[in-house]
Amino acid sequence: MLKHGNTIVDSIWVHCSATRPEWLAGSPLSEKVKEITRWHVARGWATIGYHWIIDRDGTVAKGRDEGTRGAHVANYNIGSIGICLIGGHGSSENGKFLDSYTPEQENALRRLIDDIRGRAQITKIRGHNEVAAKACPGFNVKRWLEGKPAKKKLTESTTMQASAVQVLSGAAGGVTAISALDGNAQIVVVVLCVLVMAAAAWVMRERIAQWVKENGS
Ligand SMILES: [Zn+2]
Repeated sequence: MLKHGNTIVDSIWVHCSATRPEWLAGSPLSEKVKEITRWHVARGWATIGYHWIIDRDGTVAKGRDEGTRGAHVANYNIGSIGICLIGGHGSSENGKFLDSYTPEQENALRRLIDDIRGRAQITKIRGHNEVAAKACPGFNVKRWLEGKPAKKKLTESTTMQASAVQVLSGAAGGVTAISALDGNAQIVVVVLCVLVMAAAAWVMRERIAQWVKENGS
């Protein structure tokens, strides 16, 4: 069982280096780890504060030994493992993982979390931003773990856009029928268009309900 002194290691904290994507690009991860170590030593810490560091290409480097308490999240260092994703500069608390990081980093982070779970009794996986007034790591870790996309705007949903187009097409069809046709044909086509619009509006309502369920109001 993994412990820090007498405390069982039961949590993982996700962080970022808050660096731009091109930071030390072309240098091996070991150079980036050395640079972060310099920052942390300058703060008076023994060495790098994180236990693991994940580079842009998904490479994973070891920082502090897992059996040693880290220095990455005030008040929660004992009994926790700190993972740092390289990148995250300019990210926001509720950003999307892939806005700041690569798919390789996403896979590496999930794999690393699974590995740690294999050797420690992890009950909590959290983001630095849950306990500090920081964006770090630049996404909502809980939502990311649940595999849900980060909160997105209703208008950004492509299915919602498709529904809106269907409703408008129905309306446009009706208007065209009124101006181009006479008598019974006009009535039949307008009724059909109204039915199409109603069906599209119903689908849109269902999609909005689904969106509210997934993203909150
Ligand atoms: Zn952090």
